[in-house]
Amino acid sequence: MEKYKDIGLKLTPQRLAILNYLDGNKEHPSAEDIYRALLKRFPTMSFATVYNTLETLRQRGGLIELTIDPDKKRFDPNTEPHHHLICVKCKRIVDIHGDYKLPIPNGERAGFEIIGNHIEFYGICPKCKKANSL
Ligand SMILES: [Zn+2]
Ligand SMILES: [Zn+2]
Repeated sequence: MEKYKDIGLKLTPQRLAILNYLDGNKEHPSAEDIYRALLKRFPTMSFATVYNTLETLRQRGGLIELTIDPDKKRFDPNTEPHHHLICVKCKRIVDIHGDYKLPIPNGERAGFEIIGNHIEFYGICPKCKKANSL
């Protein structure tokens, strides 16, 4: 929660619940996931509230938006550089922490100074693999 303190959001109970939901969350939830998870406690909360809060957080660097899942945008409260592995069946996304040195040949660099990378790995998670073999 500490990192959200400086982000300058007015903390309404609903926003606080969204931040709490995200804090330490490794599931890479979508806006819909968060909305559904909090709807029980905040039946009057609108989807726009969730979406706008996420968008504000993203703009202020408190969240990373992942486009790895073609079905929906997913959000990652872990803003440290890391990579992702996605299950092509259930769309579960897990973090990969590792420093991959991927040299780009000089001719391909288009004059860019490279400051980072994000690698998306695709696979089938143990759960889906098990379900498949039944
Ligand atoms: Zn899976
Ligand atoms: Zn992540």
